[in-house]
Amino acid sequence: MTENYLFSRLAAYGKAHPEKTFAQAPDAAPQSYGATLQNALHLAAVLTSAGLKPGDRVAVQVEKSLTALELYLATVAAGGVFLPLNTGYTASELAYFLDDATPAIVVCDPARVAEVTPLAGEARVFTLGANGTGSLTEALSDAIVAPVPRTADDLAAILYTSGTTGRSKGAMLSHDNLYSNAACLKGYWQFTDQDVLIHALPIFHTHGLFVATNLALVSGATLHFLNSFSPEAVLEALPTATVLMGVPTFYTRLLADPQLTRDRAANMRLFISGSAPMLVDTHEQWQARTGHTILERYGMTETNMNTSNPYTGTRRPGTVGLPLPGVELRIMGREGEVAQGEIGTIEVRGANVFKGYWQMPEKTAEELRPDGWFITGDLGVMDEDGYISIVGRGKDLIITGGFNVYPKEVESLIDDINGVLESAVIGVPHPDFGEAVVAVVVPSDQSLTLEAIQAVTSEKLAKFKQPKHILLLPELPRNTMGKVQKKALRETYANLFT
Ligand code: AMP
Repeated sequence: MTENYLFSRLAAYGKAHPEKTFAQAPDAAPQSYGATLQNALHLAAVLTSAGLKPGDRVAVQVEKSLTALELYLATVAAGGVFLPLNTGYTASELAYFLDDATPAIVVCDPARVAEVTPLAGEARVFTLGANGTGSLTEALSDAIVAPVPRTADDLAAILYTSGTTGRSKGAMLSHDNLYSNAACLKGYWQFTDQDVLIHALPIFHTHGLFVATNLALVSGATLHFLNSFSPEAVLEALPTATVLMGVPTFYTRLLADPQLTRDRAANMRLFISGSAPMLVDTHEQWQARTGHTILERYGMTETNMNTSNPYTGTRRPGTVGLPLPGVELRIMGREGEVAQGEIGTIEVRGANVFKGYWQMPEKTAEELRPDGWFITGDLGVMDEDGYISIVGRGKDLIITGGFNVYPKEVESLIDDINGVLESAVIGVPHPDFGEAVVAVVVPSDQSLTLEAIQAVTSEKLAKFKQPKHILLLPELPRNTMGKVQKKALRETYANLFT
């Protein structure tokens, strides 16, 4: 073994085309591929001289910056395991992650170093601020390291799942898990070095870190790098960009801005959405306003991307498309695979599927079958052409009086009512029924009444599916990736019937 499997593949384009722009940010000089790789190898030297050994974890909780991306590449080059952490995590949350992952190096924001150092145990602590300053970059010297040999199966990253139930689990991702998915998406979405990708996603999550960044690197694309999402900054970037990768909230917020026009989007070739379900209504509004059909795809921390609507061919709103090349997908009921059109749990298998949960062999055994199938926990259904629709997380399924209620069915019905912007349907404890269906509805029109919603649900739904309580709220709780936090809603309304 002489090569570093992932680094050599992510760096191949940049080595051949060092002058090509890797990233341009609104108020900074463009940065070339050559400079980016060089910076990464210098940072790798800082990591190795701080004692990093192959397989050691580098835990990173910093603001988004190009240096932070270079630190990811540096960690991979140095043979380490990159462990990005949501910038929103508090000290007590960090304590859990650092204790669980026992990193050799911790990199944190300069403003939090006093709080983080006592939690870091034996780890060496560096700081890195949003503008690239801090003890990490102060430690840079002329030294660079040659990429440390690593195989396809060695770990490149651990990403903690958002932990909507129980303790957060560290998903172990290998060099090939990451590379194979980037290579697959490059072909499927037809990325080339002519692309300019608007990068406005956080880089502590699989979407912004792996889907966007690895794909750009293997394609030789240029990132239009934004430190955070704002409709203004994305609108400004649109005329010179070719691809936007976002979560559904990006699209709804852009639609709310009258500056989003067909003209402004004329240079774009592709709008991609994922990480949370996109309403059919958003797809339709986007199409009407820009002339582009959003391409929705489905993936998760543990598996990278699993399915995508086709690049050429029909993109179907409300579906997440077809299994990607090299990804096997099946929909399972209690007694094996279900018939086409029936709801079951989505399982996937392929080079994209992770190696298991860090130090949790029982959890791994519960979710990853010995023959490689991963039980995603998402409920889905396949149509006659093989398109998959996600109907929700298994744990969001409501069991009321012994009957299963799929929240998506009730939500779709409510979302179609005039005056409704969106809704979330949850199950909360009920003394008679075990769980009761509750609908939390966000009006788009203040004249919306509870009676209007009830009229539709009682006409269209079997009694057991009808919400026993409907609430109107100004907005739904969401995390940074735009996912509706049903757990938070269940907690808030836990005592509605008890
Ligand atoms: P994460 O690991 O944070 O990326 O979350 C993965 C979960 O997000 C999946 O298991 C799905 O429940 C959900 N998800 C991702 N993409 C989509 C999509 N396009 N539509 C519906 N749910 C999605």
